[in-house]
Amino acid sequence: MGEKAYYIRRPAFKKELNEETGEYEEKLVGFPFVKCWFGVNQTEGDEMPPHQSPEYSIPQLLETYGIEEEPFRHVNGNCQGYSYANRIAVNPIAKWPDRTRLHEAAHYLAGHTVPEFNETYQDNMHRGRAEWVVETAAHIALKMAGLTHLMNENASRYYTENWRQGQDIPDEDCKQAISIGEKLLKGMRVSAANLLTIGEGNNQILEAGRPAGGEV
Ligand SMILES: [Zn+2]
Repeated sequence: MGEKAYYIRRPAFKKELNEETGEYEEKLVGFPFVKCWFGVNQTEGDEMPPHQSPEYSIPQLLETYGIEEEPFRHVNGNCQGYSYANRIAVNPIAKWPDRTRLHEAAHYLAGHTVPEFNETYQDNMHRGRAEWVVETAAHIALKMAGLTHLMNENASRYYTENWRQGQDIPDEDCKQAISIGEKLLKGMRVSAANLLTIGEGNNQILEAGRPAGGEV
């Protein structure tokens, strides 16, 4: 096809006898230029399949932590999703469904779906802190996994700012957001297995409402 290969530097090895052991060993002898590299656009053949992240998957996250997704049955059509016990639901018309899955999974990992948390959650200030933590955690996880196309970063920031209401973020909330973000990231790793399942027997429904102008 007449395409010219690019030169790259490639490590070169040579087998040398180790006189002490009497065995041949590979030794790095340099980095010569080798004319061997083509770009995909210089090649012929079928189109490459779309890139898939082999490393991270949202279904894997749910499996890792034993989270079950059920059909959305909330009356509030503006609500993007909700979580209770170890269950989450995502509105079929959610703008960023996978980001909402992570957000709801983060509520579960943060212990927000246990009955004891419900009273705290009804308090608007605590609710704001809880929402700030889980959205920030979801943001961190998607960013670290290189999956930012699954969310709208501006919408995510708007959401957290909206709940923050100009208050300073307590250190413990920052730490919690980072820690849950890491848990989400680990749980999404396709090789993740046997991580701890957190919380059982919870039955409270969160996300009954939404902040003015925000999304849940
Ligand atoms: Zn939420």
